[in-house]
Amino acid sequence: MKAQLITLLAACLFPLRGGSTADWCYHLPTCNYTTWGTLVAEHCNGSHQSPVNIVTADVKGYAGLTAFTFTGFDDSSSVLQIKNANGKTVKVVLDDSKMSVSGGGLPGLYRTQQFHLHWGNGSSAPGSEHTVNGRRYPMELHIVNVRSIYPNARTALRHSMGLAVLAFFIEATNDRENPESWKNLTSYLSSIPNKGDVLDIMNQLTMDSLLQGVDRTQYYRYLGSLTTPPCSETVVWTVFKDPIHVSQDLIGLFSTTTYIETADDQMITSNFRGVQALNGRVITSQP
Ligand SMILES: [Zn+2]
Repeated sequence: MKAQLITLLAACLFPLRGGSTADWCYHLPTCNYTTWGTLVAEHCNGSHQSPVNIVTADVKGYAGLTAFTFTGFDDSSSVLQIKNANGKTVKVVLDDSKMSVSGGGLPGLYRTQQFHLHWGNGSSAPGSEHTVNGRRYPMELHIVNVRSIYPNARTALRHSMGLAVLAFFIEATNDRENPESWKNLTSYLSSIPNKGDVLDIMNQLTMDSLLQGVDRTQYYRYLGSLTTPPCSETVVWTVFKDPIHVSQDLIGLFSTTTYIETADDQMITSNFRGVQALNGRVITSQP
């Protein structure tokens, strides 16, 4: 399972085309999210893409958006590794034999494989992917879950609602080194400065501790895509209304500690995709 996961992540983050390496990026005039449709993957010009701007006045009430059941989110042994994932993001690998999500209006059980983050550039530029009424939050956390009826994420990517991503906004506070769970998480960043660096962090923190303070019964729901190539339109999105509160000094560490390439001085900054057109899709929430 672990080998499959790593293969999938490599495929998602570093797609190949025509036998040559067609890397994608966030940060160059000739290589950023506006060029993905022509540079890389087949789905990035689709009509059901993510992220989107959530216009709260247009959100429709839907009673089917019930409470979630989170399994293993309180278990520090299910948080396995933190890595500089291809110079694109910071990813934490989770044990999908111990962690799962169900309920929440989802069509079944989803196994929880990883979370990763999107950020801006210090305190000067916010970096969430989804926006609310045009407002971009400082950061966004994505928990990636694979529907359990599929053997792996690669297969799930080919089926409607094969993936469920739970998105959490991160709001900045003026505290210092708060909360403790995020102080802990960000303390590992200096160990993974370069592309591909990995650190074992088993038994150090729980998913619940990183989500503390968030009301997980209030959320937006819509159908969309991966926000990175290949932009597959098979993701059921949950965007929680309550943000996680993290102090600005800790938020700033993401854009000042991790590098895009080994032996280069370019930090990973503004690793988010711009919002995509809804094209008639309706965003729902609790009535
Ligand atoms: Zn993401």
